[in-house]
Amino acid sequence: MKYISTRGGVEPKSFEDVVLTGLAEDGGLFVPEQLPKFSTEEIASWAELSYEELALKIITPFVGGSIPEQDLRQLIEKSYAGFRHEAIAPLVQAGHNQWILELFQGPTLAFKDFALQFLGNLLDYILAKREQKVVIMGATSGDTGSAAIEGCRHCKNLDIFILHPYQRVSEVQRRQMTTVLADNIHNLALHGNFDDCQNMVKASFADQSFLPEGRQLAAVNSINWARIMAQIVYYFWASLALGGPHKKVSFSVPTGNFGDIFAGYLAHQMGLPIEQLVIATNQNDILHRCISENDHSTQPLQQSLAPSMDIMISSNFERLLFDLYDRDGEQIAHLMADAKSGHMKLSDTSLAKARKLFSSYRCGDEGMVEVIRSTYEDSGYLLDPHTAIGLAAARECSSNKSTPMITLATAHPAKFPDAVKQAGYHEDPALPPHMADLFDREEQYTVLDNDKSAVQTFIGENITS
Ligand SMILES: *Cc1c(COP(=O)(O)O)cnc(C)c1O
Repeated sequence: MKYISTRGGVEPKSFEDVVLTGLAEDGGLFVPEQLPKFSTEEIASWAELSYEELALKIITPFVGGSIPEQDLRQLIEKSYAGFRHEAIAPLVQAGHNQWILELFQGPTLAFKDFALQFLGNLLDYILAKREQKVVIMGATSGDTGSAAIEGCRHCKNLDIFILHPYQRVSEVQRRQMTTVLADNIHNLALHGNFDDCQNMVKASFADQSFLPEGRQLAAVNSINWARIMAQIVYYFWASLALGGPHKKVSFSVPTGNFGDIFAGYLAHQMGLPIEQLVIATNQNDILHRCISENDHSTQPLQQSLAPSMDIMISSNFERLLFDLYDRDGEQIAHLMADAKSGHMKLSDTSLAKARKLFSSYRCGDEGMVEVIRSTYEDSGYLLDPHTAIGLAAARECSSNKSTPMITLATAHPAKFPDAVKQAGYHEDPALPPHMADLFDREEQYTVLDNDKSAVQTFIGENITS
C-alpha cells in the first residue's frame, strides 16, 4: 500500500516513511492511495474476535506487507495490554438505542491512548529495524502530551520533548505528563500559551539544524496517519457488538481536530454500514457552521470547559475534503489557502456529498453542564464534558430512532473536575485506582521562556545518545 498527499505534490510513499514523516513536503496530509474494502460477509465473520484480533484484520492491509504478521500481532497486543477493561472499548447503554463507547480505559484516560500506545510501539519497531533514532517534539494543551508520553516511555530509539503552556493545563493533565520519570522523556513548560508552544514546534520542524548529526524530528500529533488508522478499529468493534454489519449504526463524535471522526468516515468507506456520523462541537463551532450553512470562517478561539475541542482549524478536515473534491490535490491546495485566510466555501456538490453521511451540532458550556447534571441525576453515570457534548449531539441529530446511536466517550470525567463540579457534583471525581496516588508522585519538568534558542539548546543538550 502506498500513500499520497492531499495536495498532490509528492511521490507516493511507503507506510513506514509516512509514519516517520508526519506532514507531506507539499504541506498536505498523507492518505492511502486506495482504501481496503471489506464485504459484509467478511465483516460479519469477525463477530467473535477479540479487540486485538479485530485490530489485526483492519490494520494489516494498510501496512501493506512491510511488517510481518507475527510482529504486527505483537505490536497490537502490547499496545492494548495496559487497558483496564477486558473489552478494551466497552459499550454502556445510555437510553433506548443510545449507547456510549467508553474509549477512556487506557493508561491516560482519554481515547488518544488507542492511537498513541500503538504509535509508540510502531515507531520503536520501525526505528530498531532501520537502526535509526529520532526526536519527537510535540505541543499539547492537555490530552495529547500525556498519551504520547505514556506511548513512548518504553521506547529505546527515541527522545520525546513535549511542550505545554506553563500553568495553563489542568493539574491532573500536568501531573499525568510530569510524573513519568524516564531518561528519554522531557516536559517543557513554556511561558506562553498553547499557540506559542505549537509555533515553537512548527519552527523547529522547519529548520532542524539544531539537532545532532543524523537525528530528525518525528511528529505524533493527530495528522500522523498511524493514529487515524488505529482509530478505525473501534468503529468496527462497536458495530459488531450491536448487530452490525447486518444492521446499520450511527456515531456521534466529540470533535476537535477531526481525526477521530475521520476514522469513522474511513470505516464507512471500507464497507462498514454506518447511517450517520454526527460532528459534535463546542462553542468553537467552525465545523458545525461549515456542514450546516457552508460557513467555514474563522472566529477567535474561545476557551471552553471541553478544552480538547478548542480548535480553530481542524487539520484532518483536509483529508475529508480531498475525497469530497474527487481527490483533486490542486483544488485542495487552493481551498486550504482560503481556509487559512479565514473563509472557505465548499462547492454545492461537495457539501451535498458530505451531508449524505455527516450531520453536526453545537453544544456550548451551559448545555454541556446541563447534560452532565441530568445524566448523573437520571442514571448515576458521570460524563466528561467532551462526551456530554457528544451525547447532546447524538440526541439532537439522530434521524432514525431505530438505528443504534453510539456516542464516543473520549475522556474519563476525572480528567476534567471543573466541568463536573459545575454540573453540581460535589467532590473531585475519583481517579481510577492505578492513578489514585497521582497527586503524591514526584514531578519533573523544566520551565523555559518562549524563546527558540533556549528551547532548542535544551533539546540539543538533553538528547540521550
Ligand atoms: C483530542 C480529543 C478530542 C478531539 O478529537 P479529534 O480527533 O481531535 O477530533 C475530543 N475529546 C477529547 C477528550 C480529546 O482528548
